Amino acid sequence: MTQIAARNPRTGQIDWTGTAAGPDQIAAVAKRLRAAQPTWEARGAASRLDILRAFGQALRRHAEPIGAALEADTGRRRIARLEIDSVVGSIEAWACVIANDTPPEWIQGRGLPSVRHTAAWKAYPLVGVISPWNFPLLLGMIDAIPALLAGCSVVVKPSEVTPRFIAPVMAALAEVPDLASVFTLVVGEGATGQAIVDMADCVCFTGSVATGRKVAVQAAGRLIPAYLELGGKDPLIVLESGDLEAATDAALRGSVLSTGQACQSIERVYVQASVHDAFLARLIDKAHAVQLNWPDIAAGQVGPIIFEKQADILANQIVDARTHGARIMTGGVIEDHGGGRWLRPTVIADVTHDMAVMREETFGPILPVMRFETVEQAVALANDGEYGLSAAVFAGTLEQAEAVGRRLEAGAISLNDAALTSIFYEAAKQAFKASGLGPSRMGEDGYRRFLRRQALIANTAAPLPLAAFSEDAGARP
Ligand code: NAD
Repeated sequence: MTQIAARNPRTGQIDWTGTAAGPDQIAAVAKRLRAAQPTWEARGAASRLDILRAFGQALRRHAEPIGAALEADTGRRRIARLEIDSVVGSIEAWACVIANDTPPEWIQGRGLPSVRHTAAWKAYPLVGVISPWNFPLLLGMIDAIPALLAGCSVVVKPSEVTPRFIAPVMAALAEVPDLASVFTLVVGEGATGQAIVDMADCVCFTGSVATGRKVAVQAAGRLIPAYLELGGKDPLIVLESGDLEAATDAALRGSVLSTGQACQSIERVYVQASVHDAFLARLIDKAHAVQLNWPDIAAGQVGPIIFEKQADILANQIVDARTHGARIMTGGVIEDHGGGRWLRPTVIADVTHDMAVMREETFGPILPVMRFETVEQAVALANDGEYGLSAAVFAGTLEQAEAVGRRLEAGAISLNDAALTSIFYEAAKQAFKASGLGPSRMGEDGYRRFLRRQALIANTAAPLPLAAFSEDAGARP
């Protein structure tokens, strides 16, 4: 049995230990959930929605211990509470999606008029959800809730970096026994994730590109679908006609929110040459005003770096940029406070496109700013990279921003704002390039992807005799 030890990002102390679920335990969980799933599916969507609403209420009743655990997991308070609110709110958002779901009708055949057909939707019996550490509760539930609503049973394995919230969520779940029979969360690391991919009928994975590739290969070996939501390197383009006050606000929020530990963070900024210096000066002023949430967790905007190794990635990108001639205008130093590690907003000027900070995922509050001359150059620079999660454009009019946005190779484009997918969840989108695979996790597709379409085909006439297919029958059957 593998022991897991979790480090508190504010104190640096190992203050949590637990045992990872091994393959035998996952097999037992899968057996139990599979046994209960047909009854769950047979209930119908309205009944499942009622039960999920009851779970939402249970999460609210347990909000204090869940919030405290998330706070210990991530070192931040306000976002911990927002995660709970978001998950509970998402149940009502899914209620609106399924309200539009009308039963399919029988359709008369065109090729054979005596044949009619309709569709039935059959849930994948067991969905495995594997999630990362940056929003521990939200990113497990974001796939689990629509999968449960669709009639699947679900096992979620959160990251081993942030496992503290699992126990209080399980306590809330125990108050909703109908749901607990088809839904569970397990403690575990990579090997537990692999055991889940071995057992599930469909996998939802959120995490790094490197692990996503492994999950995709393992799932392909079993011929099961793997829906992947992976890393990003989101660009922001600022045209000279754009509102610099608004653009600098959006750039900073898009980079600094959640200490940049968000997949759709703004990680590179391209500013038209004529306004580059003015943009940079404003951005630097605003970055200086941002505070750490240390020593008071209830103050400031920047929390600690949750995963210690991430601090080294950030430090290396800063050193690489400086070594290659970039100027670090703010922040730039990993600060140690009370055992935790922090980075203030780090604005970097004079970057080039061969620097790691412009090519590799950062996942921290670092904002490299690069100038461009023409819109053609800006589009080419924004599209130059392996990721395609999301992007943003500022321009004098929405029409101008839209014209540029439509040329970008990314799944979601914020127009005259940045990182809108972190606060607006209604627009269906897919991840482009190495940022992911599979249908949208938002909107109707986010629900449908857990259902397999079955065709029911009815012949209203006598079955065609075999003789109709004889070589000498002449006509096409
Ligand atoms: P990670 O890939 O290291 O781990 C993610 C999860 O995979 C963890 O639960 C881990 O235990 C598990 N895992 C590890 N090896 C596995 C294996 N072989 N098989 C199955 N599961 C395995 O990612 P992370 O460091 O936890 O998260 C950060 C990454 O997540 C960043 O790249 C970020 O961009 C990405 N992310 C993407 C989105 C999105 O929606 N696109 C959202 C949040 C985070």
